[in-house]
Amino acid sequence: MKVEFIDEDDLKVRFILTEANPAFANSWRRAMKSLVPTMAVDYVDIYMNTSLLYDEIIAHRIGLVPLKTDLERFNMQDKCVCGGEGCPSCQVSLRLNVEGPKMVYSGDFVSDDPETTPVYNNIPVVQLYEGQQLMIEAIARLGTGREHSKFQPVSVCAYRIVPEIVVEDCDGCEKCIEVCPRNVFEMENGKAIPAKVIECSLCYECVKECPLDAIKIDEETGKFLFMVEGIGQMPMRTVMRKALDILKEKAEEMNKIIEEVSL
Ligand SMILES: [Zn+2]
Repeated sequence: MKVEFIDEDDLKVRFILTEANPAFANSWRRAMKSLVPTMAVDYVDIYMNTSLLYDEIIAHRIGLVPLKTDLERFNMQDKCVCGGEGCPSCQVSLRLNVEGPKMVYSGDFVSDDPETTPVYNNIPVVQLYEGQQLMIEAIARLGTGREHSKFQPVSVCAYRIVPEIVVEDCDGCEKCIEVCPRNVFEMENGKAIPAKVIECSLCYECVKECPLDAIKIDEETGKFLFMVEGIGQMPMRTVMRKALDILKEKAEEMNKIIEEVSL
């Protein structure tokens, strides 16, 4: 299997996975979405809240604030040496003590760990008016998207099949160019050629409309176009790599279980 990057920036990546099958492509997609550990606030102590919002609403909003995550430094709580009690290797405390009038932003939290801070400092939490006060300690830990979507490192993770499109004996009627909603075809030397195959959404309009039945689409190419959009907790390549490591771990576990079966 190979990965070929098409475009990439801090939050968005598009790549083609080749020589793969749908089962693997889908496992990887699911692993990126729901198995890569990510930091988020999961426990909140509210010492004082005289704002207009209930404690529960504020706690929920704080949980959804994305936090920078360094996977090398933290353990999942159930696998930590502390046995899940909570220690500096598996949790981080963020404190907030503010008084109105003021709009409270994610950036107002003071984290115990200088590297585990909100990804964005401008997420509004609550508006405080004159005399209102908010005093909170929020505990963040690693979790997975499977538990709650606040632990997801990606907001979008989707793929589609990259087909192989063959045009035989084209007479240059340009019907396919006209009907294709994704502008896959282009004219070259009087014939239509599939110039942008990765844009194809497999709508089959070209196949239906071609008067000569000259267009053939093969979906079993083993190529998948992935579109992944991150939230910022960690670099996109880390999400991709970690998801693969998790799949590998799961496969090894499966192997072990199979070997233990005696017949
Ligand atoms: Zn611990």
